[in-house]
Amino acid sequence: MEDCRKLAAERGWTVGEEYVDNDLSAFKGNARPEYQRMLGDLASGHRDGVLIYNLDRLTRQPMELEQFVQLCERAGVSQVATVTADIDMGNDDGLFMARLLAAFAAKESARKSARIKRKALQLAEQGKPHGGPLRPFGFEDDKVSVRSDEAELIRTLVARFLAGESARSLCTWLNEEGIATVAGGPWMTTTLRQVLRSGRIAGLREHKGEIVGPAVWEAIITPEQRQQVLNRMEAKRVSGTRSPRRYLLSGLLRCGRCGNRLFSSLRVDTRRYVCHSGPDHGGCGRLTIVAGPVEEWISAAVLHRLDTPELADALAGRRAADERQNELWAALEADKDLLQEFALMASSRAIGIAEWKTAREPVEARIRRAEQQLAHLSGTSQLEGLVGAGRELRERWDGLNLERQAAIVKAVLDYATVGPGTRGARSLDPSRLIPTWRL
Ligand SMILES: [Zn+2]
Repeated sequence: MEDCRKLAAERGWTVGEEYVDNDLSAFKGNARPEYQRMLGDLASGHRDGVLIYNLDRLTRQPMELEQFVQLCERAGVSQVATVTADIDMGNDDGLFMARLLAAFAAKESARKSARIKRKALQLAEQGKPHGGPLRPFGFEDDKVSVRSDEAELIRTLVARFLAGESARSLCTWLNEEGIATVAGGPWMTTTLRQVLRSGRIAGLREHKGEIVGPAVWEAIITPEQRQQVLNRMEAKRVSGTRSPRRYLLSGLLRCGRCGNRLFSSLRVDTRRYVCHSGPDHGGCGRLTIVAGPVEEWISAAVLHRLDTPELADALAGRRAADERQNELWAALEADKDLLQEFALMASSRAIGIAEWKTAREPVEARIRRAEQQLAHLSGTSQLEGLVGAGRELRERWDGLNLERQAAIVKAVLDYATVGPGTRGARSLDPSRLIPTWRL
């Protein structure tokens, strides 16, 4: 800017207005409000000359320059000067020079970005962190040293997410605890999901969304845990999102008369679970239970169950479910690849349309089955951090939000059958409840 003012003084030009777009690259095509304002002033005839530091500050795209030149011609602006090279747009030589410079600037910019890309790839392959202004959550400013307090937090978040808690609920918790993101703002589900699914926290280096290898920094969670996080996110995507829960035991109770699922009643006076008859529900419609006491009883039973040796024993068997989950994922991926291959063969006419259809059908059926199974399969990860924690959880139980409570209950309880009650009974008869444990 200083140089421009000096040049204006040398030429005896009066400075009408200064237009500065700071830090906005003309090449990236960012909006440049000051540049737009200048074009407006030129077009309306308020200015008769333009003084630029260098042409690449003005425009970096040949097409943009073309527009600039046309605008100058129409508005009768003939004086365009730069500090670094003098160009008179008023004559053909100047115009040619300007175009040449613009073409050069575009090329240089492309070369620079290729250089930056090469450098980024090199860093990635060495497992080193990339540039960028913000440190990643869980790490110090050098992007390599682990911040122990945040690392602990990440492990907690992963465990709770795997235990069935939603990203939304975890964000609420973080914000209530007064824990900020690295940018200093509140947590949003997108930010949280990014952290949870990142290869970074599992000690992996990603480049353009792909894992390229081990990173130079320490892992906060294991790659297997990260895979489980990805599985759960995918399973959630497949099974669709649910509306927020209002009853702790929604979907977890069955009618002792007909075996049908109990639904939360919409009656406002007392919260109840009821067996609904009718076409949508198909139950007997002859069973109802007040929600409060049954929720209390089941919660207590679940927390007790967490501390029993039976559960610890069952845990060993649970590892098999994890393996099954991973197997299903692998099979699913392979089948999706297969479909892609079939499509390629069909498009290159290696197989006919009819053959393609025949080949596709069993694979598509397999994919549907695997997706359904995955949506229902609860791996071992759900119980991470819960086993043996019953006593401690009991103390905090009332302070936990409904979704967190439900996640814990569902990790342990498959469903509970509710037997018929005695008409007019005032309190809950616990013998009406028969839990079927997941483990
Ligand atoms: Zn029923």
